[in-house]
Amino acid sequence: MLQVKGLRVNYGAVEAVKGIDIQIKKNNIVSILGANGAGKTSTLHAISGLVKKTSGKIIFDGQDITDSSVEEIVRLGIIQCPEGRRVFPKFTVEENLRIGAYSRKGQNIKKELQTVYELFPRLFERKKQIAGTLSGGEQQMLAIGRGLMATPKLFILDEPSLGLAPKIVEEIFETIKTIRDEGVTILLVEQNAMCAMNISDYVYALEVGKVAVQGTASELLQNEQVKNAYLGG
Ligand code: ATP
Repeated sequence: MLQVKGLRVNYGAVEAVKGIDIQIKKNNIVSILGANGAGKTSTLHAISGLVKKTSGKIIFDGQDITDSSVEEIVRLGIIQCPEGRRVFPKFTVEENLRIGAYSRKGQNIKKELQTVYELFPRLFERKKQIAGTLSGGEQQMLAIGRGLMATPKLFILDEPSLGLAPKIVEEIFETIKTIRDEGVTILLVEQNAMCAMNISDYVYALEVGKVAVQGTASELLQNEQVKNAYLGG
């Protein structure tokens, strides 16, 4: 579904991504792991059109999107749920969800709202609540729900577990699996390597802008280098 070939991203003299190749098959969950500054977010932003690529190629569903605008990329079905949740704090839960469907202007969004409320019953209970007053976990659910309102084909999640209690993290990861089971392909960036591997079909570990290791989650769970570097031995 997605092929990233020889991707490079520079910020002035800083080489954040130094020529990486990534492949994502339809209906898979693919994770990108790596320490702070490894180039994970830059890779995601290059795919979703938010940063300029220095070189490389990105093909989505057979179409070259290397130089496409963010609007075009969204229209094709690549939707990113940003790091740090970033809900609109002064709007209600339901208003935030409706904003998520803005790229589908004029279409009936009742079905999507229902899907999101089924996935996250807590959002339904709180649909009239002001988003800024939700707990961290609920705001993360809202950010994911808002992304789903745009009906992604490829849903990109940047650090969905960041700053959340373990029980909520478990719940979020279970939901990510359900979203995949409903037919959405997922690209996940995570520092929580164990949780990510548990739900992933394929994993890339980045180190200073390059792919250091890649493989299926079960291959990587047996890899000594991965165990020491990402799973605390
Ligand atoms: P984190 O988990 O901290 O977000 P990351 O793996 O996502 O890390 P990136 O955010 O992609 O890594 O950063 C890769 C490198 O690029 C780092 O050295 C970072 O300091 C640098 N970098 C990122 N954004 C910019 C920017 N806008 N201007 C200059 N340098 C940047």
